[in-house]
Amino acid sequence: MSQAPKVKKPPQFPATDLLIIGGGLAGMALFLGIKKNHPRLKIKLIEKESQLGGNHTWCFHDSDLPPRVKQWLQGYFSKTWNSYEVRFPSLQRNFKSPYHALRSFEMQSRLLSEFPEDILTNTAMKSWRCLSPENPSLLGYEIKTEAEKLLRSHGLIDCRGWINQYPSEKVAFQKFVGLDLKLKKPHGLTSVILKDAACPQIDGYRFFYTLPWSETEILIEDTYYSNHSILKEDRIEQEILKYAQTQGFEVESILRREKGCLPLFLYPQEHIGELPELGAKSNTFNPVTGYTSPQTFQMIDQILSLSALDPASIQRCLVQQQKAFEPQAKFLRFLNRMLFNACRPDKRFKILQKFYTLPEPSIQRFYSGQINFLDKVRLLSGKPPVPVFKALMELTDKFASNNSKKSVPDLNL
Ligand SMILES: Cc1cc2nc3c(=O)[nH]c(=O)nc-3n(C[C@H](O)[C@H](O)[C@H](O)COP(=O)(O)OP(=O)(O)OC[C@H]3O[C@@H](n4cnc5c(N)ncnc54)[C@H](O)[C@@H]3O)c2cc1C
Repeated sequence: MSQAPKVKKPPQFPATDLLIIGGGLAGMALFLGIKKNHPRLKIKLIEKESQLGGNHTWCFHDSDLPPRVKQWLQGYFSKTWNSYEVRFPSLQRNFKSPYHALRSFEMQSRLLSEFPEDILTNTAMKSWRCLSPENPSLLGYEIKTEAEKLLRSHGLIDCRGWINQYPSEKVAFQKFVGLDLKLKKPHGLTSVILKDAACPQIDGYRFFYTLPWSETEILIEDTYYSNHSILKEDRIEQEILKYAQTQGFEVESILRREKGCLPLFLYPQEHIGELPELGAKSNTFNPVTGYTSPQTFQMIDQILSLSALDPASIQRCLVQQQKAFEPQAKFLRFLNRMLFNACRPDKRFKILQKFYTLPEPSIQRFYSGQINFLDKVRLLSGKPPVPVFKALMELTDKFASNNSKKSVPDLNL
């Protein structure tokens, strides 16, 4: 009996071209950017929670946005203000530049209604494997979800957010509690109060941040640049309500609560991601602000301008961007060490007060992580608000790291 000829198995083509893991700021923005600019690409976004985006108000300066990203993203902004101001004990300054906000609950409902088939919530990636490790140019992945479902994709991008385990002696924190408040009467504000540091400086550099959503709705956050991550939410909530009162705002009710504790790197972090990474997961963010949006938007802009959106090109592009940001990150980590190691907690505001006297373009480049040589000179010139010897001790990543000691804990009233 002659044997039936062996049938060559058809290759199993991946179901999607690109699978984005994690529907936070980075995952949603990348997903949207690809949908708007490469509508023929088959992509999917998976998110482990029942909703995308968590509970966040993401804000950024207009100068943090690459112009091409602004074109497709601005229709999704919750609000744009045309100016903002900063208040310090010896400085008050207005800036006539736009400031934007994206609210996660608004972004998620827009995306879910526009692209319901391509977004899977309640879908957590449990494990992944490369289907052809011996031939990486083919790539192709299979991922297993926590519900034991298998998904296949030609490429993966890991947007799973913060890693959460940073050695405590190598990071400081920007931590905050925010309340969306309904007021009894109009507040009368027309612009954002980005920092109001004319307040008691407890637990490090401390300021209030105010976003007026409408005539009678407002977000107020109480923020601390602290050496530790403890956040006494009840106490801080009371502080916010007290601050509202001092500003003449009569609070009718609390509409929403938000909190965060962002790591601010003082030293380089060991991190080797196996998948292409974007957002907080990639550790590519401004070490002084803990904000990821400027670098995330810049990296998405570079991805979208690739001539071919294949997984290998995307991975190369992301790695290149991460490396290109490292010299900026190194300088910003040095500024963090000046702030957290060389300066007394109750005097930290003086460094920021001096910073806000700089020319506006330098301030914008600082936020977007694009500081130039002249900006560095400006940032370091003049009488330093920290002892010179202590500042010198913090000069290089390596020297300071060898001498790193736990700073005296801040007051935590
Ligand atoms: C309250 C708050 C406010 C902030 N405000 C600003 C701001 O105004 N401007 C700014 O630039 N930065 C801000 N940040 C800092 C930073 O930009 C945010 O943390 C931002 O959300 C980071 O985006 P991301 O997409 O990298 O991570 P996340 O937004 O944390 O998204 C990661 C997502 O991945 C999901 N996920 C995790 N594991 C899996 C898995 N196994 N499978 C599937 N999904 C998974 C998570 O559920 C989450 O939704 C803020 C941070 C906080 C906490």
